[in-house]
Amino acid sequence: MDFKVGFIGLGNMGSPMAKNILKESASLQVWDISEKQCQDFVTEGVTVARNVAEMAEQSDIIFLSLPGPKEVKEIVTGENGLVTFGKPNQYIIDLSTIDPSTSKEMALFAKNKGITYIDIPISGGVPRAAEGTLSLMVGGTEEEVEGILPYLQAMSSNIYYIGQRGGGSAIKLINNFMGSSQMFITAEAILMADHLNIPFETFYDVISTSNGSNRILTAKMPKIKNNDIEPGFTVDLTLKDLELVIQLCKDKGIANFSATLVQQWFRIAQLRGYGKKDISSIINLVREVEPVKK
Ligand code: NAD
Repeated sequence: MDFKVGFIGLGNMGSPMAKNILKESASLQVWDISEKQCQDFVTEGVTVARNVAEMAEQSDIIFLSLPGPKEVKEIVTGENGLVTFGKPNQYIIDLSTIDPSTSKEMALFAKNKGITYIDIPISGGVPRAAEGTLSLMVGGTEEEVEGILPYLQAMSSNIYYIGQRGGGSAIKLINNFMGSSQMFITAEAILMADHLNIPFETFYDVISTSNGSNRILTAKMPKIKNNDIEPGFTVDLTLKDLELVIQLCKDKGIANFSATLVQQWFRIAQLRGYGKKDISSIINLVREVEPVKK
């Protein structure tokens, strides 16, 4: 069946994902609060919805790629939102990184109107969003997404079923706790290398083939090498995720010492003006705090 597809949130991730969905669905309609983000799609002849309500009335599946829980709640449950103007048998597929309890709350809210909301957060960054090789973490079962599988496969064939609503958001937060912590440790390791007169190229050659390596080091290597701190994945979003991790562990009574430490460093990075810069700019921050003496 050829579904009418809507996509809300055309940022660093949303834009390449929507472009991959466009290959699967000629009837794609998009929307973003920022007109500038829609412009690229207008150029490609894609319809921009007038507002969320219009998209809700006209689409069978609506994908969301929004900054965080606040925006998702507003778009899903707001008085001008998707559920108010939506209809039974519709799907809302939330690709945003949010907390599991908000995902469950959105699912219940939508279910009252016969709408299926599923959290399917993603991982892999902008290059893998463009390539269509992301990891998709489904907060549901294989059967629940059977009917819309071609649209998920347009974004990637790496699809993992967590089996329960909120499960996608839960494992995504675990992933981002690990990813942002590895980024911070990598920044401290590069600082050590700087102070010990080991050039970044040598550091990378040795570490990337040794046990100290991690995926974020290899993924961010070109940016680090060229000191390119344009996002990517921003410090603001990193901080949002770490705060969600800390709150989740607090709510569930799970011990977690590292997230708070790493969060404080990203908070300082935000205060120093790196909020809109890539997560890898944490390297610039630690270099500023402890410069190599000439
Ligand atoms: P982004 O800030 O680049 O994009 C968010 C988009 O949402 C923007 O275009 C913004 O204008 C739009 N927006 C904000 N509020 C809106 C509203 N109320 N209605 C409509 N549009 C609105 O962020 P991103 O990097 O594309 O990330 C999107 C989501 O994916 C986040 O939840 C993020 O944590 C997650 N994520 C990002 C990455 C990454 O590498 N950037 C990787 C995996 C997951």
